[in-house]
Amino acid sequence: MANNRSTPPGPAQGNAAANSPTVDQVAVTALKGVGKQLAEKLARLGVFTLQDILFHLPLRYLDRTRVTPIGALQANVSVVIEGEIKAVDVVYGRRRSLMCRLQDHTGTVTLRFYHFSGAQQQRLSQGTRLRCYGETRRGASGLELYHPEYDFLDQAQPPPLSAHLTPIYPVTEGVTQQRLRGLAQQALALLDSHSLRELIPATLRRLHNQVALAEALRYLHQPPRDAPVTELLEGRHPYQQRLAFEELLAHQLSLWRVRQQIQAEGAPPLATRDDMAARLLAQLDFELTPAQQRVAGEIYADIGRPVPMLRLVQGDVGSGKTVVAALAAVQAVANGYQVAVMAPTEILAEQHRRSFEQWLQPLGIDTAWLTGRQKVAQRREQAEQIASGRAQVIIGTHALFQNDVVFADLGLIVIDEQHRFGVHQRLSLREKGAGRGRRPHQLIMTATPIPRTLAMSAYADLDCSVIDELPPGRTPVTTVALAATRRDQVIERVRHACGEGRQAYWVCTLIEESEVLQAQAAEATAQELQSGLAELRVGLLHGRLKPAEKEATMAAFKEGQLDLLVATTVIEVGVDVPNASLMIIENPERLGLAQLHQLRGRVGRGAAASHCVLLYGAPLSQHSRERIRAMRETNDGFAIAEIDLRLRGPGEVLGTRQTGDMQLRIADLQRDAGLLADVKRCARALIETEPDLSTALIQRWLGRNQDYAKV
Ligand code: ADP
Ligand code: MG
Repeated sequence: MANNRSTPPGPAQGNAAANSPTVDQVAVTALKGVGKQLAEKLARLGVFTLQDILFHLPLRYLDRTRVTPIGALQANVSVVIEGEIKAVDVVYGRRRSLMCRLQDHTGTVTLRFYHFSGAQQQRLSQGTRLRCYGETRRGASGLELYHPEYDFLDQAQPPPLSAHLTPIYPVTEGVTQQRLRGLAQQALALLDSHSLRELIPATLRRLHNQVALAEALRYLHQPPRDAPVTELLEGRHPYQQRLAFEELLAHQLSLWRVRQQIQAEGAPPLATRDDMAARLLAQLDFELTPAQQRVAGEIYADIGRPVPMLRLVQGDVGSGKTVVAALAAVQAVANGYQVAVMAPTEILAEQHRRSFEQWLQPLGIDTAWLTGRQKVAQRREQAEQIASGRAQVIIGTHALFQNDVVFADLGLIVIDEQHRFGVHQRLSLREKGAGRGRRPHQLIMTATPIPRTLAMSAYADLDCSVIDELPPGRTPVTTVALAATRRDQVIERVRHACGEGRQAYWVCTLIEESEVLQAQAAEATAQELQSGLAELRVGLLHGRLKPAEKEATMAAFKEGQLDLLVATTVIEVGVDVPNASLMIIENPERLGLAQLHQLRGRVGRGAAASHCVLLYGAPLSQHSRERIRAMRETNDGFAIAEIDLRLRGPGEVLGTRQTGDMQLRIADLQRDAGLLADVKRCARALIETEPDLSTALIQRWLGRNQDYAKV
């Protein structure tokens, strides 16, 4: 690859001593005043090296470059004022406070201190001249500054005002603003001797209108007094965007590298067997929707090639992803390969097992079943079936990843509801069935639509198919929100609906993670509802039940032997009972929007008009109110996902596991979505021509999260 190394990526080309270490190689302890203790505190801010100090960007800025006449002060602005103390009082109100009247030739204003020492009180005596920095508020005595920072102006020559805007950094206990400002200044000064490697070549920077990194950093730590503060505050300044650009670029490169490594290995080409597909389709009592057909076609094209497929299928709840996965599975089996189908929960896995067995057994395809809760003997028996190749389609939970599970010849992996699996888990699955220089194809299905902006970056390593229509005949779910005070009315509504032969879900939510508490809450609710609704058959479903019990309850509900199913959020995924047309969700304010949408997707699957009642506990927070409004207003999962993104931000939307993988320090996927197209182009150019710059970029931004970049 030596020939790829055109011009070496110049460390601030020229001015840096060739051998001096770069800023990422120098620990913060090299700075004046940083000992072991401070270094430990800085570590809490993620700051270990000089480079980290430079990348620890201000949250906002104060304008301390000019003095405002006191007479011109307005409320709620950050100001610098100068004047003479005219009066000092200790006032005993609700809290004791020290108040100083400060006057210049235009007016007077009050400085108020709730915490003050005797020494401080003495120095702030009448006649003292001060320069104060602070925020004005409307207080008891008119405009006041609470706890301003101040300098004494007792010298004949007052200290000069700052020539730059003053940065406000994210701080942690024991590290003050002042301290961070000093460290940033030191680090900037060292930029000349300890260069910061510029990792985006000048040609690419020009192409994408990006400045040099060092220039951006100098500006951001000390912007000129006329800098556009609003733009800076919003993170939209071109120099901030320069850093966001580079960070997103690093993520993109890392994901592409994973993809490249996978695709460098071959995969078994799976020729399309229309006869097998036709046999599966002939058994269904429905026709595929055009969207299902299109996506199946995209999958067939992928798996037909000798390169591992990496495809994400997005489709709203109920759009019919399972049958599309089954079609792909049939193709793999028809070509003599095994298929692993993995789901995140036992209940969902069981649901898949039922569907796959029902569809595949008539075609003479053998299935196996693997979960973490199986007895050892049973598990061993299944593992043998899998290792020998007798089992052709293996369905299970993440137990499928375990080391003792060896596949005879895995050709395709199907993962459902991928948002619950982290990138790491995906990677470890890829290891499965690797060998003989080949990897299985991968199909990932998610019912949590991922907003386009997120999909582009977080899933850069995946091709994407969207099932963008629901099967015909579905009626949209009508959603209403009622306060918990109307619980009795809602119970009557359940009585009425079930009296008419319909079925209902009653979902109990609990914030606690504890399965035990959730189970208890659901049990209590089930008992209460059963005694209030004596004529109905009430079932109970929660995570603590034995698999056989769960299965029995689900089967009973499905067959109409239960009218009302009281459940925890375990029914969020997969459960499919078309006759259920009413869902009550208790305390919906405790759930995220995506989860609410998932839950609601359990109704509206049959022809009957369906209803969802959100039985909320008042008062609602602003966010909860917005979530509930979104639920009432739309049934469209993609619209919900966009609202969710707006309310919670991308880290949350991608789920906790992935947040760990995709932590962005500077970029904001939503705000910086506009950069992504350029980032992609730039990444492509780099990966082809500058592999070691790519490596350095990944190292710089994801260095402490190495597994992410590795296969
Ligand atoms: P999801 O995309 O949420 O996983 P499923 O695959 O569970 O959806 O499908 C939901 C229900 O719709 C199942 O009962 C399935 O058999 C049925 N279904 C799937 N495709 C169609 C279709 N084209 N027409 C009618 N019903 C369909
Ligand atoms: Mg599904």
